[in-house]
Formats: sequence, structure tokens, C-alpha cells
Amino acid sequence: MTGAGRTFFVADLHLTDERPAATGRFFRFLQDDVAGADALYILGDLFEAWIGDDHDERVAHDTARQLKSLADAGTPVYFMHGNRDFMLASRYAAQSGMTLLADPARLDLYGTPTLLMHGDTLCADDIAYQAFRRRVRHPLTRALLRHLPRSWRHRLARQARAGSTSAKAGKPAEIMDVKAEEVVRVLREQQVCRLIHGHTHRPARHLHAVDGRDCERWVVPDWYARWGYVVCDAAGCALTVENSD
Ligand code: MN
Repeated sequence: MTGAGRTFFVADLHLTDERPAATGRFFRFLQDDVAGADALYILGDLFEAWIGDDHDERVAHDTARQLKSLADAGTPVYFMHGNRDFMLASRYAAQSGMTLLADPARLDLYGTPTLLMHGDTLCADDIAYQAFRRRVRHPLTRALLRHLPRSWRHRLARQARAGSTSAKAGKPAEIMDVKAEEVVRVLREQQVCRLIHGHTHRPARHLHAVDGRDCERWVVPDWYARWGYVVCDAAGCALTVENSD
């Protein structure tokens, strides 16, 4: 089946050499579903960790090659940073044929204004995380990180992951989901009635009332025990979630 006339959205693949099955699944998805499509948007956390564009996992090289061949064959690939791979920069983007996107990014999707986000900024009740995010995303922090030796950056990434796991363990579930008021605020501010994001690992289609209109929020799945995507065409969007067996 050809992907022409369709646009694919994925996020939270968390690719790493430690989970080769997810990587293989992703490459098959690129070849079987995405090839020939109008575009592929990766909405963050493509990688489990990213210490800089000298990231030395094999999955980084293999993924660049797969995405580059997709882009070279005529399907543009766009990448938005997630909280795991926010250090991914222009060198790796060029190697992979990806165009970097700001978060949020607004696009005209077959005539419907649509907002794309990773989704972490929507979890507005998680005050501690939002403060951490502001610190590590600051351009000065990022410039500093880039100049650290690779072994230091590996260690920092491990510490950040461990810290995030223990912080999550102590937080109520609703704090780690998006805040509905924040969704409505962003939709209104950006003047869109459709939002696609990841991050929460809670794939779904939600409706939010904004100034008397029912607006759509699509949450794309993670790629652990399941995998999937949101796909849109001129008629609308759909969510596909499959088991990873
Ligand atoms: Mn995330």
C-alpha cells in the first residue's frame, strides 16, 4: 500500500542498542508503511538517551541511514526534541536527512491547522520537572554540555535517567499526564483545533472544548510492549496501536 497522501506521526520510540526489537520494528515500519508518504514527523524521544551528535550507539548510525534513505526517496522527515534526546543537533539531523522543528510547531495539515508538540510542557502540574526542563534546555547549559568529554556526558545522562525514574515513582499519576487547562490554553493561543503529541505514553484521541468547539488531541503511543502511530490525510487522522509480538 502506498503512503502517498498521508502523513505519519511517531514519538517515544526510545531506541537504544539494548532494545533491538523496537529498532527492527521501526525500520520495518519505515519501509512497509511510511515509504512514499507525504512526510514523517518524529515528535521527540526517538532515542532513549542522546549525549550529543557524537553519540556512539550503533542504533544512532543505523537509524540515520534508514531515515536518510527515506528522505532521499522523497518523504521529508521532521524531528522535534523530546526530553530524552534534546541534545540532538544539526550534525545528526543532516546525517539523517531530518529537518529540526521547534516545540511547538504549527502546520497546515491538508487544510487543517495542526499543532505538534512533544508533550512534556503540557504536564504543567509537574512543577519540579518544568523547572528542571528550563535549566537543562537553556542555551548556555546546552553549550556547556556539548563541551564536556563524552564519558562525563554518558555519566550525566545515566544520572538524569535514574533521577527521573525515582522522581516518577513518588508522583501521583495525574501529575504526569497533561493538564487539560494547559491544553485548552495552548490550543487557544496557537489558534488551532487539533493537537498531536507524545510523551505521556497514553495513546488516545481526546476532545477538548475550546470556545464552543470540540478540538482534537491525539496522543501517539510509545514503542515498548506496543508500537504505533497517528496517520492523517485530507479526511482526518487515525491512531494505530499494535502489539510488539
Ligand atoms: Mn518524553
